[in-house]
Amino acid sequence: MTATSQSSCNQRKRFWIPTILFASTGLLALTTMPLYGIVYGYHWYQWLAFALFGALCSFSVAAGNHRLWSHKSYEPHWLLRLLFILFSAAAMQNTTLNWCASHRHHHQFIDDNDRDPYSAGRGFWLSHIDWTMREYSSSYPDYKNVKDLQRDKLIMWQHNNYAPIIIAMNLGIPIILGITTGDILGMMLLAGVLRLVVNHYTTFMINSFGHMWGRRPYKGAISARDNSFLNLFVFGEGYHNYHHIFQIDYRSGIYWFQYDPTKWLIKTLSFAGLTRNLKVAPCVQIKKAKLDQFFKRAKENIEKAKEKENWQKILDGEAHAFASALSCWKSLQFTRNGVKHGPPPANGNSQ
Ligand SMILES: [Zn+2]
Ligand SMILES: [Zn+2]
Repeated sequence: MTATSQSSCNQRKRFWIPTILFASTGLLALTTMPLYGIVYGYHWYQWLAFALFGALCSFSVAAGNHRLWSHKSYEPHWLLRLLFILFSAAAMQNTTLNWCASHRHHHQFIDDNDRDPYSAGRGFWLSHIDWTMREYSSSYPDYKNVKDLQRDKLIMWQHNNYAPIIIAMNLGIPIILGITTGDILGMMLLAGVLRLVVNHYTTFMINSFGHMWGRRPYKGAISARDNSFLNLFVFGEGYHNYHHIFQIDYRSGIYWFQYDPTKWLIKTLSFAGLTRNLKVAPCVQIKKAKLDQFFKRAKENIEKAKEKENWQKILDGEAHAFASALSCWKSLQFTRNGVKHGPPPANGNSQ
């Protein structure tokens, strides 16, 4: 970063509420939390509360704010909506309405440094956390892209009562659990503070790490990456290159062996009737995106090779064969069983 851009960065208006929140919780998690553990020790049920409360918050952000409300990838039972609205507020990542407005802009304007709220093109620190703490051109939510959510009474109830809800969830739950188990402070530090810090930084990693390191099997022209290591910490949200191309898909890891607990949760709940109309991207479009990217990479490599004309001919032949097979498949779909069904839907094929 140059001296000029560093100084203009420092002159930006600071948003004090998130700055104080991140600084104070981070400091407590690094100092008081381990110190209390050394002096008094933590019990297994406090760690269990930390894990369960943390999982509820992370699922509510991933399956609720993200896959349900930002992308409408399935339909939930009202009970699930209520849980998601309460526990996504407990994760303290802004209201669901603001979260979705920013996220839809992120998809629409990906890598546009002025309009993508957490564009990785502006550096790791900004895309990770600084976009929430300082004023940027994209800092203020434009609600034009969330008009559907503004008609949702539950989302607007959370939006209009955010402060009392986050206080009730973040203080109320650990205090009640602490009274029940006889150690309020220990429960506050684990299920309150540490859980919140972990919730924050794991989600933030998707916007920073997930746009900087990893593979791009579906589209090389965008910064979003598939990162299996990151995926371990973000409840399956780490297949981010796939997600940016097929955002309507309720899955992020599309293969059965890919670790995606959010996908498994949504699918499992469908057996109990708590979710329905789960949307998936058409298989042929997924394969096409992957092969298009493969041919693009092969072409770039051939440019550097000796006898590139011969290799180019082979590649063109393969690309032609693939295009013919694809068009054949489409016409078969169109007239399968002798009945005209119309072309496969083009849903989800956007950034
Ligand atoms: Zn998304
Ligand atoms: Zn992204």
